[in-house]
Amino acid sequence: MTAPIIIIGSGLAGWTTVRELRKLDPSTPVTLITLDSGDFYAKPSLSNALQQGRTPAQLISTDAEKMAQTHQVNLLAHTRVLSIDPATQSIQTTQGEFNYSQLVLATGAQSIRVPLQGDAAEQVLSVNSLDDYARFHTRLVEQQGATKHVLIMGAGLIGCEFANDLIASGYQVTVVDPAAGPIAALLAPPVSTQLQDRLGALGVAWRFGATVQSVNSIDSRYHAKLSDGQTIAADIVLSAIGLRPDISLAKAAGLVCERGIVVDTFLQTSAQHVYALGDGTQYGGRGMPYVMPIMHAAKALGATLAGTPTEVNFPVMPVAIKTPALPIVLAPPPPGVPGTWHGTEADLWEYLDAQSQLQGFILVAKQVARRTELAKRIAT
Ligand code: FAD
Repeated sequence: MTAPIIIIGSGLAGWTTVRELRKLDPSTPVTLITLDSGDFYAKPSLSNALQQGRTPAQLISTDAEKMAQTHQVNLLAHTRVLSIDPATQSIQTTQGEFNYSQLVLATGAQSIRVPLQGDAAEQVLSVNSLDDYARFHTRLVEQQGATKHVLIMGAGLIGCEFANDLIASGYQVTVVDPAAGPIAALLAPPVSTQLQDRLGALGVAWRFGATVQSVNSIDSRYHAKLSDGQTIAADIVLSAIGLRPDISLAKAAGLVCERGIVVDTFLQTSAQHVYALGDGTQYGGRGMPYVMPIMHAAKALGATLAGTPTEVNFPVMPVAIKTPALPIVLAPPPPGVPGTWHGTEADLWEYLDAQSQLQGFILVAKQVARRTELAKRIAT
């Protein structure tokens, strides 16, 4: 019997690859192995679900059983892949050994945890999965009635989205970040200031130029000591300081990895018959931990797995930042391209290189409607 195609991971990358493959090939056996339940949900909704009044269970768009049935997949949920042997085309899992004809690593990324002092350091939460979100949500809704104070570590994209969602839902929010402003690494400074002001006007308290050093539990609250000497008392501490591609399996199997699992334009890793996509992957020297790159990569990989080797071509893929206090659409310039941000119209920022070529843009407020037009201007 021919070995199946095995896909590791049931996030957006894993399930979208299955869906794209099944459009072209309804019959090749596919096994999907995942550490979690396999339920399908849109991860971006984790950072704006509160305002929408959606519970973790309501974020599941299709349950695992239905996904497996619809796409004719043998699903092994709550199963960890322990190792990969590209030479024998086999994997070891907590449910035994399996052979594959082709293998897809869709194993995502892990929340970065900074070492913290204090007896409650382990109780700091981070949200990078539906299970993480369920834990966070339980803590938020416990002791209903009391306004809760959430301390967010990190004023990046995800930290700001959570800050907006929490403040708009009646929570008290403080955000701590060593940078000088929110999303400072990606936004033109004036846009960062605008976002800081808008969220500040809603009540978000900012502590820039500082980091959390320790978290201790005192009288059923957390006391976070900052590098500037201040102490903040909060009911929940949420770490949103970024994600690190999960390269553990790939590295142990001898696949070439840098920050992420290195793939070529066909999404093949350095091992034959082994492919990768999603948050754990490094495409052409860069990670792209967003939804749109996954959709494009999964389409190409689905075709390759179905027998037609297909290269992925990424178009310009702007990202919408879910901060309703100040809607922002961002198309960051490619890494390493020298240039500067220019405010060319109200609420429109263009990143121009030395030849005055458009390399990236930021659209704010009503200008967000122009994302397609600006993306086309970069492409031409
Ligand atoms: P994951 O969803 O992390 O899936 C990894 C899978 O691998 C999981 O099923 C896991 O169980 C499995 N796995 C890992 N190791 C093993 C193992 N050893 N054995 C078995 N299974 C394993 N992007 C946007 O474009 N727009 C947004 O607005 C946006 N908002 C976001 C908001 C939040 C709060 C977060 C966290 C991310 C957001 N993103 C957004 C990013 C986007 O959600 C991710 O790029 C995408 O969901 C990643 O999908 P993935 O399948 O690569 O990884």
